[in-house]
Amino acid sequence: MTDKNFSNLINGKMVAADETFDVINPATEEAFAKSPRASKADLDTTVAAAQEAFKTWRKTSHDERKAVLLKIAGILNENIDDLARLLTHEQGKPIAAATSEVGASTFWCTAVAEQEVPTDVLEDTDAHRVEVRHDPVGVVGGIVPWNYPILMSFWKIAPALITGNTIIIKTSPYTPISMLAVAELVKDAAPAGVLNIISGGDELGQWMTEHEGINKISFTGSTPTGRKVAASSATNLKRVTLELGGNDAAIVLPDVDPKAKAKELFWASFANSGQVCIASKRLYIHEDIYDEFKEEFVKTATSVKVGDGSEQGTDLGPVQNKMQFDKVSNLLADTKAKGYNILCGGEIEDKPGYFIPITVVDNPPEDSRIVREEPFGPILPLLKWKDRDDVIARANDSEFGLGGSVWSNDIDAALEIAGELDTGSVWINEAQAVGPHIPFGGHKQSGVGVQHGAEGLLEFTNAKAITVKKG
Ligand code: NAD
Repeated sequence: MTDKNFSNLINGKMVAADETFDVINPATEEAFAKSPRASKADLDTTVAAAQEAFKTWRKTSHDERKAVLLKIAGILNENIDDLARLLTHEQGKPIAAATSEVGASTFWCTAVAEQEVPTDVLEDTDAHRVEVRHDPVGVVGGIVPWNYPILMSFWKIAPALITGNTIIIKTSPYTPISMLAVAELVKDAAPAGVLNIISGGDELGQWMTEHEGINKISFTGSTPTGRKVAASSATNLKRVTLELGGNDAAIVLPDVDPKAKAKELFWASFANSGQVCIASKRLYIHEDIYDEFKEEFVKTATSVKVGDGSEQGTDLGPVQNKMQFDKVSNLLADTKAKGYNILCGGEIEDKPGYFIPITVVDNPPEDSRIVREEPFGPILPLLKWKDRDDVIARANDSEFGLGGSVWSNDIDAALEIAGELDTGSVWINEAQAVGPHIPFGGHKQSGVGVQHGAEGLLEFTNAKAITVKKG
């Protein structure tokens, strides 16, 4: 699937663009494919097709929509190995992780295919019958990031289609190819214009947010871009769902066996090389177990192999792109310049690929950049705490409010802490557990609205109250 030119999926056909751009393999820094760069005219054509398709698609039954999602799930499943290889090539994650991402996308389509928004009857009296229907909003623009290019797309495609909307997915300019490969495979699975997948630069995202023909934007990406999306979506009062950045705290209580939990917390922090919105990005460890935990954590960190994701035995791949590599390098340089104690990693080798070693920082000050900012890469602070209220205040002292976790054998104590965390998700004794039935979203600067679950599905609809006067 590599070494070829890819096209956009517009109105059921693969369409080349006038301009293209190179896509880079982050493990080698070599360009391996060309992506189309959709123009404003391409977007206009796509929006017109999605609007036309909406006229019919909105009238389809739940069973018809379900059949389309199941067909797509089947196609993803049949092509899982090829897609995973391509995803590794483009995104950098190891083959096993890439296979899981495609598998999770299949699972999501299958699960969401069963979801339905019921019509609610609010009143049925001698005087009135009042019901609330949930109409599809129309054309949805889905804008996605580069950390999970396939899964983040299906988190939007599946609920948009099952609720009767048509959708235009815009891929990240760093990782367009995997979804364009998916596009080729699924182009006939839905009626023309129902599912469109286009690639372009950041400007394409902005044009979508400004476009009068798009009725909703479902955006996943950084908080600064999310603010821009909110502002320009105001042109025609688009519905907006924003899934943004996070700086999740994990609070580890003293009753936890540090040996048993260090490994789990390592993966909660470093899976996908830390490029996960809900990665644990600040680990608050009680002082009674801090040293033992630290020792065990570093043991795991130094046993993990970082390398080219396509090579056997690689546990973690490179950072996905040069922009992010520079950002994480800068954070690492600041950590060193301030003289914080680095427990492992810290030295970037001069070799091809955006590789940053797994870096663990020993109890830096609470106001340090490594604690305050979202690294979105393989660098993490371990932090010490002793007072319960103080650690909750520290966890909440962030502009972000995406997720958080509490680790303890005392579930009641953990639940009480969970209740005091100002985040959209809290996990107890695990992290990053998401599901198609669980609403997922951020508080504060981590987002607006939710994806998944009944609440997430409703965000793809407009409520319509119908009142019938009786008698
Ligand atoms: P980004 O904000 O730079 O880009 C995201 C997407 O927005 C890309 O497709 C990009 O081309 C597009 N874009 C850029 N400028 C735009 C504009 N002005 N208008 C419209 N679209 C525009 O984010 P990224 O670097 O791709 O992703 C990393 C960030 O995403 C991290 O902060 C991470 O926490 C967050 N993220 C959040 C979730 C979540 O569900 N909350 C999931 C994954 C990633």
